[in-house]
Amino acid sequence: MPRLTGSIALPLVAAVLLAAWPATASAQAPFSVGSVSARPGTAARGALEVAPLGGDPGASIPVTIVHGATPGPVLVLVAGVHGMEYTPILALQRLAASADPRQLRGTLVLVHVANMPSFLGRTVYYSPVDGKNLNRVFPGKATGTLSERIADVLTREVIAKATHLVDVHCGDGNEWLRPYTYWMTSGAPEVSRVAREMALAFGLEHIVIDTERPADPSVSVYLANTAILRGTPALTVESGGLAGTDEASIARIERGAAGLLKYLGMRTDGPEPLAHPVWIGPIEVLRSSTTGLLHPQLEPGHTVTQGALVAYVTDFHGTRLEEIRAPFDGEVLYVVATPPINKGEPVGAIGQRAAPPAPR
Ligand SMILES: [Zn+2]
Repeated sequence: MPRLTGSIALPLVAAVLLAAWPATASAQAPFSVGSVSARPGTAARGALEVAPLGGDPGASIPVTIVHGATPGPVLVLVAGVHGMEYTPILALQRLAASADPRQLRGTLVLVHVANMPSFLGRTVYYSPVDGKNLNRVFPGKATGTLSERIADVLTREVIAKATHLVDVHCGDGNEWLRPYTYWMTSGAPEVSRVAREMALAFGLEHIVIDTERPADPSVSVYLANTAILRGTPALTVESGGLAGTDEASIARIERGAAGLLKYLGMRTDGPEPLAHPVWIGPIEVLRSSTTGLLHPQLEPGHTVTQGALVAYVTDFHGTRLEEIRAPFDGEVLYVVATPPINKGEPVGAIGQRAAPPAPR
């Protein structure tokens, strides 16, 4: 059907085919995520439930399924793994409102707020219920703490059903960030090849060549890496930060999703893939070795030279304890931009410019 929607010469034919859509779609089965189920050519809303356990309240994960009338890829977009990252959550609200199942080949699954305890509790990094970072506990555990059970439900009900997946992040509530994509190379060569094309289709100019993710599926740690190690090409993307809701960061995610839908043949329209990305790698996460007040000296989007002062840390009386400097010339990917800093926590990340990777 998408091949005909652009036709001006055959509006009547197109209209008749559209009207006949449910009948022609009968070969396509309903699509379900947990108890949420959509018939072909329709959209469905609901929630994945994570049952209470051991005195914790459990969690509800809102999901939209946009199930096209004809079979095709299953693209999953996940927002809110970190609950104070708002631009991905707002972008997925818009995608749910605008996606038309009658115009779609395949299935789009939107996970609106993966980490509801962190969203409603307004917490950075960690769940207010168990103190764990959801994006460090994959593939999760069915009898574990709440974050581990959320990860388990997402692994079984969402990741397992995806053919392609994007975990959408931004700088957390305390992080100032430039937009970029993580292209993880931990999977099989074919998975990496498709993920690389997905990164170009998503269209963020800076792409980190990420060779550091674990290769053991039983300790996949990160959501997107969980998909990759199960054979599903996936990305992590970043756009926005500092608990902001700015239009440019939201629109960048919407545009990225449109680029992916076109690349995957799920829609005929959409932006072209990026032709000349800035490849980044390796990156180094800079950490504080002391607890105190952080004084960042850089902004994301800046280019630094080796030895440049990234931030310094003072004690609670203003005495300078530590200076954190750039380990090499590179691009500033993110910087923690609010004062609290604990020993061992990230202060920012710097990435070296890399040569374009050889096509696989
Ligand atoms: Zn995040």
